[in-house]
Amino acid sequence: PDTRAAKALKDYIRTIPDFPKPGIQFRDVTTLFADPRGLRLAVDLMLHPYAGTRIDKVAGLEARGFVLGGAVAHQLGRGFVPIRKAGKLPGAVLSERYTLEYGEAVVEVHDDALQPGERVLLVDDLLATGGTAEAGVRLIERLGAEVASCVFVIDLPALGGRARLEAMGLDVVTLCE
Ligand code: AMP
Repeated sequence: PDTRAAKALKDYIRTIPDFPKPGIQFRDVTTLFADPRGLRLAVDLMLHPYAGTRIDKVAGLEARGFVLGGAVAHQLGRGFVPIRKAGKLPGAVLSERYTLEYGEAVVEVHDDALQPGERVLLVDDLLATGGTAEAGVRLIERLGAEVASCVFVIDLPALGGRARLEAMGLDVVTLCE
């Protein structure tokens, strides 16, 4: 059963059937982002579990993780690190390739974006298979930093992302299913 907070959050999230292809229920957070109460609720709920926890940097996954991660970083008083799709970052990068349902994708991070030993909070809007987040975790760890936790607004539990990340020993927080 949903907590009141999860229920409130879900009211701001719109579902678009058959996007980007038939059979996919796209969970659209633009309606959450566009509403000042929705955006604040999401950011506040993402921050709540980390009170008293050491977080040195916030990393966001392109593109919706930039909106949430930027707000979370600001609230924590920490810097923000973008994890981008291939070819977008101007400096020297590390790359990670991962498998999508159909085909492959690559994510990148600047090779000087994190310092060894830094504790990083990884942020995105939605956890599906966990492939994107896992690639982000690998980039963070290749820089010698540590993933303190991964936080997502939405979990699609049938796709197994949480189990996959937890099997890597990661802490995973999701706000609604
Ligand atoms: P995955 O790598 O399978 O965990 O997929 C997560 C990434 O794909 C996130 O960046 C999501 O924003 C996006 N995504 C996957 N499935 C959906 C969905 N049903 N609705 C909205 N976004 C999705």
